[in-house]
Amino acid sequence: MAQIQWFPGHMAKARNQVQEKLKLVDLVLEVVDARVPEASRNPMMNQIVGQKPRIMVLNKKDLADPQKTAEWLSYYRAQGFEAIAIDAQHAKRLQQIPQLARQMMKAKLEKQKARGIRNPGLRAMCIGIPNVGKSTVLNRLVKKNIAVTGNRPGVTKNQQWLKSDETFMLLDTPGILWPKFEDALVGNKLALTGAIADTVYQADSVGLFGLGFFQREYPQALRKAYGLNDDDMAQTPADLMVTLSQKMGFGEEFNRAAERVIFDARQGKFGPFTLEVPGDLDGHAE
Ligand code: GDP
Repeated sequence: MAQIQWFPGHMAKARNQVQEKLKLVDLVLEVVDARVPEASRNPMMNQIVGQKPRIMVLNKKDLADPQKTAEWLSYYRAQGFEAIAIDAQHAKRLQQIPQLARQMMKAKLEKQKARGIRNPGLRAMCIGIPNVGKSTVLNRLVKKNIAVTGNRPGVTKNQQWLKSDETFMLLDTPGILWPKFEDALVGNKLALTGAIADTVYQADSVGLFGLGFFQREYPQALRKAYGLNDDDMAQTPADLMVTLSQKMGFGEEFNRAAERVIFDARQGKFGPFTLEVPGDLDGHAE
């Protein structure tokens, strides 16, 4: 992932760029990380996208807790969005996205047909924060069906469109927006899932956050991964980090134990996990 510096000027520019491109599309694919569906969203997304129809694409579902993914899908559907969980690295289910889009835009497509357009098409764009998998989704959706469809009415010159199928086209570059990085909890979640570069967070605090989370939410997986006993598991996360550091042979270099916990979480050593559930958002309305 390219490291992007989000200064206020850059944020305004990113927002403007996305809003310009939004004018060209019928719908938006908002890509999020299924392990952190809210932490991996832009805080102003609803304002930026406005009324444009949207499909919430919960990507990296292979790394997420399936039960919690199901809760998130229901949550977004209850908010009036379409929602789908995918693993963009495996293209199979991706074709459901154009189908879902056509279903969602049925009324508009019917209207166009009534006006004599035989095979009306839809135009979409991917939007999301860095590293959620926007490019992967885009590339897998269009496979090698590259179509330059400029110089046609309604298609802006120099704007490249990629064809997913005969009636579904995607803007060639995804819209990149910033996460809610001023929130420390969001920062911890994004760091633990690898969405932000290792140089911009403190491993000890992210590792401790992760350890506390797995101890509370996935105790069996943690216990098994590190061979922990009841006494170990009853400790506070900070004390458990000390225990782990000794077990791992790092002595008092607790930072190294924290780094290992982060590494192991990302590698899936504790199994698939999801760091937040819709209930966590009560009182945190956008
Ligand atoms: P972008 O910055 O949003 O365009 O993200 P990328 O498409 O570059 O993906 C970021 C990283 O996540 C890459 O290393 C991808 O290989 C990986 N990735 C993307 N989609 C998935 C997925 O569904 N599952 C897993 N495990 N990794 C994924």
